[in-house]
Amino acid sequence: MARYTGPVCKLCRREGEKLYLKGSRCYSAKCAMEKRNYPPGQHGRETQFRRGRASNYALQLREKQKVRRIYGILERQFRRYYRVAQQRSGLTGSNLLSLLESRLDNVVYRMGYAESRAMARQLVQHGHFEVNGRRTNVPSFIVKPGDQIRVRDGSRKRTLFKQIGDIARERSVPEWVSRNISDLSGTMSRLPERTDIDLTINEQLIVEYYSR
Ligand code: SF4
Repeated sequence: MARYTGPVCKLCRREGEKLYLKGSRCYSAKCAMEKRNYPPGQHGRETQFRRGRASNYALQLREKQKVRRIYGILERQFRRYYRVAQQRSGLTGSNLLSLLESRLDNVVYRMGYAESRAMARQLVQHGHFEVNGRRTNVPSFIVKPGDQIRVRDGSRKRTLFKQIGDIARERSVPEWVSRNISDLSGTMSRLPERTDIDLTINEQLIVEYYSR
């Protein structure tokens, strides 16, 4: 599945908030939002002050774009997730976020085995992880409760995976995930719920966007 390959800090500047797309850099003074906290482009700084009150449509669009960018998903696939979320029982917005959180790349990131979702996506794509003992290189694979994710034996010798335990130790894991750092593995213990997701997202705006 295709992915966005352009400059990512621009995305945070466009949304006007940190989306934490680059791992440790996001927490340092090098973060572009620390240095240039205004929209990208030649007239970005001017438009920041010129803009009036945003329309409802603009608010809905920005919220949808923000979530898409956080999870690194392009429009077509995102719309597909929305349709699946609609078909499930319960609130569509919460279902959508639960679905996005259940992606394999996101679960690897939540377990702390990657600094960012983009890094997790690459590690998965390069075949470093197995789900329930089977090599899985599809970042959009939907993990189910009880599934065990583990770094493959062949990948453990690599320098990156020798250090990854230390990176993971610095990160806490959400309640719906359990991990065993010594074994570089983890399990999704239950489906993520809306209250588990620590992102400032107004999912209702996304529902309104797609219900126009
Ligand atoms: Fe966003 Fe991270 Fe870039 Fe800062 S460093 S602008 S948080 S991607």
